Amino acid sequence: MTAPKALVAGNWKMNGLTASIDQINRLNDLISQNGANCDVLICPPYTLINAFSKLATDHLSIGAQDCHFNISGAHTGDISAAMIKDLDARYVIVGHSERRADHAEDNETVKAKAEAAQSIGLNAIICVGETEKQRDAGQALEVVTSQVKASIPDQSVVENTLIAYEPVWAIGTGRTPTESDVEEIHNAIRQVLNGRFGENASQIKILYGGSVKASNAHALMSVPNVNGALVGGASLKADDFYGIISAYDQIG
Ligand code: PEP
Repeated sequence: MTAPKALVAGNWKMNGLTASIDQINRLNDLISQNGANCDVLICPPYTLINAFSKLATDHLSIGAQDCHFNISGAHTGDISAAMIKDLDARYVIVGHSERRADHAEDNETVKAKAEAAQSIGLNAIICVGETEKQRDAGQALEVVTSQVKASIPDQSVVENTLIAYEPVWAIGTGRTPTESDVEEIHNAIRQVLNGRFGENASQIKILYGGSVKASNAHALMSVPNVNGALVGGASLKADDFYGIISAYDQIG
């Protein structure tokens, strides 16, 4: 079976104001003028999803960075997957390491959030990744594979499930794992998915995230079982982000 179509996803985190719509217009211009050999996703803060969704195209989808694990109810300040879907967003990131750290989200919470997202028809991008301490202790493989096993909802299907491997120590630091370290972890994630989903597991996208930029995208995206990128800082400016997208011009 051939590899799934790659996805380059931007996580804007707590950045972006209404004027940032210029970046989406610019991104659409760059894609329509020069093409994109991958799917493209922007996950802005909730406040911008409505405006950005109106500019979604066949190439560019919009998503959210988190959702509540309930679909509605008395949860002041929270946003549900149904609300995200209502704005024509298609994806939601769950279990980002900043959510796991800042909001004490464990695998069980992440799984419940992914379940809420998938139940409403969204694609869940489930983030996993080891800390520096865990890598130094030789625990990276064990930590990541156990996060994958514990964070995927029971009723998930291949079509609505994506995994993002993001070593915590590589996020926003300018440091990246070696290509062979990325390959080792992505292969291990694929094995877990094979055990869980059978032969169609090869169609689940496993994204790499952590200090991806135009200059390292080609090398990282060429690693076997890397089916795209989750990009933080370098996704905020359309031209920088397009530099990562265009790495796929040279990847089959
Ligand atoms: C992220 O936060 O998902 C991320 C990968 O950030 P950065 O690209 O800035 O390292």
